[in-house]
Amino acid sequence: MKTDELREKYLAFFESKGCVRKPSDVLVPTWDPSVLFTPAGMNQFKDHFLGKVKLEFTRAATCQKCLRTGDIDNVGRTAFHHTFFEMLGNFSFGDYFKEDAIRWAWEFLTDKKWLNIPGERLSVTVYKDDDEAFNLWKDKVGLPESRIVRMDEDENFWPASAPSQGPDGVCGPCSEVYYHLDDGSDVEIWNLVFTQFNRVGEPPENLNPLPSKNIDTGMGLERTASVMQGVPTNFHIDSLFPIVEAASEVCGVKYDYLSDNGRRLRRITDHARASVFAIHENVYPGPKDAKYVIKRLIRRAVLDGYQMDLREPFLYKLVEAVAEASKVAYPELSETSERVAQVIKSEENAFFGTIDGGMKRIEQLFEQMRDESSVMVPGAEAAVLNTTYGVPPELLQTLSAEQNFTFDWAGYREAMDEHALVSGAGQRELFQTGPLETLKEALRETPFVGYEETQSQAIIK
Ligand code: ATP
Ligand code: MG
Ligand code: MG
Ligand code: MG
Repeated sequence: MKTDELREKYLAFFESKGCVRKPSDVLVPTWDPSVLFTPAGMNQFKDHFLGKVKLEFTRAATCQKCLRTGDIDNVGRTAFHHTFFEMLGNFSFGDYFKEDAIRWAWEFLTDKKWLNIPGERLSVTVYKDDDEAFNLWKDKVGLPESRIVRMDEDENFWPASAPSQGPDGVCGPCSEVYYHLDDGSDVEIWNLVFTQFNRVGEPPENLNPLPSKNIDTGMGLERTASVMQGVPTNFHIDSLFPIVEAASEVCGVKYDYLSDNGRRLRRITDHARASVFAIHENVYPGPKDAKYVIKRLIRRAVLDGYQMDLREPFLYKLVEAVAEASKVAYPELSETSERVAQVIKSEENAFFGTIDGGMKRIEQLFEQMRDESSVMVPGAEAAVLNTTYGVPPELLQTLSAEQNFTFDWAGYREAMDEHALVSGAGQRELFQTGPLETLKEALRETPFVGYEETQSQAIIK
């Protein structure tokens, strides 16, 4: 089944259940200051869930363009993570609830008329105390108890926190559907969130059942397509592989998916796609917020090209391939592809202008650190690499982690502050609060454990 066909089937199935088909929201929702990019299908319906808008419909289905910066370092390493991806969702605003959400998910996945996935391949997780969901999967769907796994709040409560501990607001348990792969691992394809509580005040009496309960689900389009197409990674599906092939041609490197270059080509593919969709919406690479993320993605892809011996802009040549591969759902991309290519090329030119010097300096730095047996990349060095050579600190941090070096974020900030004072430039802006800041904090906290690490999410070795 082609990816375009899967998208259409999903929307048609939920229309047959009374959901109104709504278009994707933009990728960069400037109307919503709480996020840089749309992270999930439910984002455009936040006010519907909170009862803040007059409801013109109580059931909806969408295919939403999403971008998750938190997954940047997963891209290329795991078989199933992108930055940009599409999320299929069905939503109920005080209308249908747990039983229908569960039964319909199962029907769509396994019914001959729809995806026809063998039921034995599927298993689910539920929140540990959610007996209602457990029993629905067991009694209404007929899943054996051994394939219904109870998990704690880190995985199966939204937002992830113990039920009585998180921030005030709507929250609830969720249930995830996994597909069992031939290699013995499982991939998460669908998350059903049951927002049934409003959390207010202090525990233990702070979980109030909502008078009208909501359903918010998200199914990964690319992941489910990879299951339907029986391919080993998302990058092998019909809507992504042509971009991988174009990247391989433009870079002059054969795509061997188990090699280092395979990982680089996947990252290039993903980052090209994310950049095209964002720049199409006029989010150009720049110094902060969403623009900074796009700059980072382009520079990361350029670095991958550089490590495959490219010395001139190449990423912009993939814009056509992205537009072509996405044209059924997003025909509008071809209207802006020339402008988008120009923007990418000029960002590439800027980085290629300094990357040689930057990489030399980084290599010397690493050599010196090894000689001196030091383990932390000094913040002052990172600041020079950023301000003089245009190397984003996150990129340097990734390179450092590959050498098992840690990164001195505090020192880096201090050095950048001093630089801002000296140069009078507003560099500090980069570090104001917001999701990006949170991401940096998270990266700072995450020790690098090497590419050999095995996660539940099938690392490509
Ligand atoms: P994972 O644990 O694999 O990172 P998740 O639990 O973070 O996934 P959800 O927030 O539950 O994902 O999103 C709903 C669905 O969207 C997932 O079940 C998956 O199919 C898909 N999805 C999530 N993140 C990505 C990604 N980075 N790339 C591709 N698909 C994704
Ligand atoms: Mg995730
Ligand atoms: Mg998950
Ligand atoms: Mg999930």
